[in-house]
Amino acid sequence: MQSRVVLILGGTSEARALATSLVAAGCIVTSSLAGRVRNPALPEGQVRIGGFGGVGGLEQYLRHTRPDAVVDATHPFAATISASAATVCARLRVPLVRLARPGWADHPDASAWVWVESMNDAAVAVQQRGLRVLLTTGRTTLAHFASLAKSFVLVRLVEPTADPLPVGWDVIYSRGPYTVSGEYQLMTSHRIDLLIAKDSGGSMTEPKLTAAAMLGVRVVMINRPASARGVPEVMTVPDATRWVISDARVIGGAGTDR
Ligand code: NAP
Repeated sequence: MQSRVVLILGGTSEARALATSLVAAGCIVTSSLAGRVRNPALPEGQVRIGGFGGVGGLEQYLRHTRPDAVVDATHPFAATISASAATVCARLRVPLVRLARPGWADHPDASAWVWVESMNDAAVAVQQRGLRVLLTTGRTTLAHFASLAKSFVLVRLVEPTADPLPVGWDVIYSRGPYTVSGEYQLMTSHRIDLLIAKDSGGSMTEPKLTAAAMLGVRVVMINRPASARGVPEVMTVPDATRWVISDARVIGGAGTDR
């Protein structure tokens, strides 16, 4: 059988593991990274870096490279690229699957958290409580929390942001995986009493939730954005591998006009 040509939309540890798995299975794999961080961990196979230039750019790229399948293994909150992939793959009739790790809805402490639908809702929920906040929602989300300027906010980022932070906010730079003892120490030393997090799922950033429960730190959890309609979903790398090798097909019929 001819090698399958696969495009992985990446930027997650699952995407890297999938690249390894598909290369081992004999696929010709290209991983696409947005280029947000310096020195990203590179997956096996070929790698391209940088935005495609919106829906039109991604369409051009797929017409040119003609993959047999696309796996959207981007972060569960990377909604724009997921929507672009869904639009373009449907248009070009390229099989597309979404690989997204399970969220934390089944976490033992999930029922104690305040679940909100958006970053703005999270900011409102915090204002109502007015506490010392640990903000872990990422560099691109900070503008949503500008209304907390008068609160103490400790922001944890992977890399510096170009935009100045409000006066009085504190910032630390680090990249997971984290440990429960490290998170406990961080929250204790900054006297944190409220944590704002995204429902990213996974084990690398989960220790903050355990530490929060141990310390009685309240948690405001932001729900994932809705997934693109009509795109099949898998939750694990083995399932995504299986899908590429044996299940990949265009939803709604076979054929291609590429
Ligand atoms: P996003 O809002 O969905 O995407 C914004 C733009 O970035 C897209 O329109 C696209 O530009 C470009 N882009 C995103 N992912 C890309 C990829 N894998 N390859 C090429 N271009 C990509 O995404 P985001 O939330 O900013 O996340 C950016 C990247 O960081 C993603 O790869 C994601 O997996 C990773 N990441 C995100 C988070 C998070 O919390 N959001 C956390 C960890 C890692 P064009 O429109 O020009 O194509």
